[in-house]
Amino acid sequence: MNLDRFFEGRDPAWVTRTAEEFYVGLGFGKLPETFWSRSDLFPARPGEARLKNSHSSCWHIDLGNDIRSLMSVEANPWWFTTAHHELGHAYYLISYTRPEVPPLLRIGANPAFHEGIGELIGLAAGRLPYLKSKSIQPANYPPDEVAVLLNDALAHSIPFLFWASGTMTHWGADVYAGELSPTEWNARWWKHVAEYQGVEAPGGPGSRGEDWCDAATKTHINDNPCYYYSYAVATVLKFQFHDHIARKILRHPPRAAITPGTGTSEPSSKRCWPPAAPATGVNSCGKPPAKTSAPAPWSSTSNPWRPGSLNRTADARSAGTGGGGAGRGMIFALGRFALTER
Ligand SMILES: [Zn+2]
Repeated sequence: MNLDRFFEGRDPAWVTRTAEEFYVGLGFGKLPETFWSRSDLFPARPGEARLKNSHSSCWHIDLGNDIRSLMSVEANPWWFTTAHHELGHAYYLISYTRPEVPPLLRIGANPAFHEGIGELIGLAAGRLPYLKSKSIQPANYPPDEVAVLLNDALAHSIPFLFWASGTMTHWGADVYAGELSPTEWNARWWKHVAEYQGVEAPGGPGSRGEDWCDAATKTHINDNPCYYYSYAVATVLKFQFHDHIARKILRHPPRAAITPGTGTSEPSSKRCWPPAAPATGVNSCGKPPAKTSAPAPWSSTSNPWRPGSLNRTADARSAGTGGGGAGRGMIFALGRFALTER
């Protein structure tokens, strides 16, 4: 599904401001002015004597209000959803910047939750009602719900899980824990690509020799080993979040879009945060915490969503495959979630 033509002639700054508007529409405040003055949001200009890391990121510089992002935003669908994702990190960080949250805890419970929030909003930013509300797509643009769903599933989510929890994590373990010789790095990389993703190297097997290190094109392999588990878990979480918001809050089918202004949130100032110690505390509004129903225990045999095509991951897990087991377990866990029902 190619939406490039709808972004022709638009200003990259409009892309980032539109992403901010999404969160303002959910009830959050505007980003601190320093976010705009101190971030590095657009590509290096021709002739500029510097190179930029092409991987987007967002940083809590002082664990306070100094939040900045590194992006290279252009006016196209990729950067439109990416800008919404990155600002998800910014608003997550802002939400943790509260007197009752010690600075050491302000980076969040786990990177997967951070990424899950970003992914959730990135998903919402690609839905037709939102794109029409921003005049990106004409109001009379014919809806093709199946194309949108297939795009979400096949271009962004399901293949990504095998890459993030299979290829990337296993190669990282080989290098960082398995003492794999550098003379085998690229061969091992393409072995995992073939095994977990079913993809051959361009030019056929063996065409990418050890003069290359294709894995290292991904920034977290170099600067943040093990981070790709976070993306894999985040991909599952985004559908959990989306499903919960759709069914339990908006009370509409998960296939429908989440768009700002539809009651998805209340201003954070009105939110009652749960107590740090659930058994004894009251929430931040001074009241007992609301009762929630815990999900039923899950097992591989009771899970109605377990795709048969993933059976091999169950076999691998029960066989105790050492360092590879965790990655396969992640893929196995995919069976719990209804990826196809949006
Ligand atoms: Zn992210």
